[in-house]
Amino acid sequence: MAHNQNKNSINLLQKNWHIDPLIHSFMLGQINEIQDHKIKINKVIFHIPFLTQFKKFVLWKCFWPDCNNCCDRQGRLPLTSKDIISISKKNQYNKTSDFIRNETLITTWDEQGPHIQNVMMTTVNLKRKLTETPYDDGKHMSCRFLDKKGYCTLHPVRPGVCHLYPFSVWLENKNNVIDVHSTFQLTGDCPGFYTSRKIHPIKNILNQYSDIIYNYCMDSNRTSRQNFSSILLN
Ligand code: SF4
Ligand code: SF4
Repeated sequence: MAHNQNKNSINLLQKNWHIDPLIHSFMLGQINEIQDHKIKINKVIFHIPFLTQFKKFVLWKCFWPDCNNCCDRQGRLPLTSKDIISISKKNQYNKTSDFIRNETLITTWDEQGPHIQNVMMTTVNLKRKLTETPYDDGKHMSCRFLDKKGYCTLHPVRPGVCHLYPFSVWLENKNNVIDVHSTFQLTGDCPGFYTSRKIHPIKNILNQYSDIIYNYCMDSNRTSRQNFSSILLN
């Protein structure tokens, strides 16, 4: 299922972007020898795929403003409690409860990934179109906040999850010390992935994202404690 979705996404992406054939095969799960290269930057442990057979890392850079595919093919926008407050203010609500009622949906969905334990998440999600229903959850659609020039009209308070893309995050508890981990979401929706023999071209980006990722994890944790979201082991 996920494989088919990735395939469809990459086919769409290839209409407008050149995709490195190695990246294409990697996203479709056709490369077997992959090493998980861990690199700790500030408080975040990044997992960068290394294609052993080809001696190449999978790296990423963003093509915005030439690209806005992640906003044009949005699947879900889970909000942290900080997002809920800032976006409701930006959208002129006096009461957060009115914003939640009018502009968000609560959905439950399975979170899966190579590094993530299979968990059931319940989150408050920003509606990507005002007529969105829970049946649209996970379906790609253009976000209503994307303007014609490719800018986000919610900026600078766009949801934390938008800042994060295309990284995914998870927490690991080792001897009561919580580590923040991150890797790429490889769904075939972002043309920014490329391969490189060296890892250094991405170091500045990881440095910049380590703060964004760490702060997002802390906001997400707070959101669960405040009962705006929940995580259940499947
Ligand atoms: S993150 Fe990827 S999909 Fe989104 S704007 Fe950047 S290059 Fe495009
Ligand atoms: S809220 Fe903004 S950044 Fe997030 S998907 Fe919509 S347009 Fe893109």
